[in-house]
Amino acid sequence: MSSGKSILVDTSRCTACRGCQVACKQWNGLPGTKTKQRGTHQNPEDLSFETFKVVRFADGRTEDGKTYWYFFSDQCRHCIDPPCLDAIAGHVEGGGVRDESTGAVLYKDPAGKAPFEEVRAACPFNIPRQNPKSKALIKCTMCFDRITHNMPPACVQSCPTGAMVFGDRKEILELAAKRVEELKKSYPKAMALNPDDVRVIYIVTDDPKKYHEFAAA
Ligand code: SF4
Ligand code: SF4
Repeated sequence: MSSGKSILVDTSRCTACRGCQVACKQWNGLPGTKTKQRGTHQNPEDLSFETFKVVRFADGRTEDGKTYWYFFSDQCRHCIDPPCLDAIAGHVEGGGVRDESTGAVLYKDPAGKAPFEEVRAACPFNIPRQNPKSKALIKCTMCFDRITHNMPPACVQSCPTGAMVFGDRKEILELAAKRVEELKKSYPKAMALNPDDVRVIYIVTDDPKKYHEFAAA
């Protein structure tokens, strides 16, 4: 297999405009989700069968009393060795695949024969969701229909700040390492999350748990 593709999500450059979230819905023909005010700008509340990408908002105070407000554009990480596919394969042969050329992780179980809770529990990032009608498991496809036609994923294309970058995995890994080194000068805790294990690589400037419970594996 080639080294495939990767996405870098540099949260230090994210302004939480949610362009990526909307672009994902638009490209995938997903409807808006009815929500209510919950005392946060995060909207909708979580990923779902009709929301493959959600910008998470987290705020609080650091140990030295400073306020933080972090944004985390959450989605499937397209793991190098995807535990969700192992869980599906135990029940549905060929129910999920990892594309050879790009590395995108795709579900192929439209009848929803794989047990949802078992697959969801297998994912270290709590990503898979289920269509309540068809029972099919669903998540981000890395915009497989775009990336196999020389277009970047819709979320990456929409990002106005350069927080998201798509490219060959080797180049994205090099870019991530370089950016972390730059950020460490101002943010000693800066790090890339699970870069050896995932294709969607997040950079954070603080403890990943402050961004989201499942930010890092
Ligand atoms: S992040 Fe979760 S759903 Fe996505 S490939 Fe990895 S294990 Fe599967
Ligand atoms: S489009 Fe870019 S800046 Fe806007 S929320 Fe998404 S990652 Fe952040």
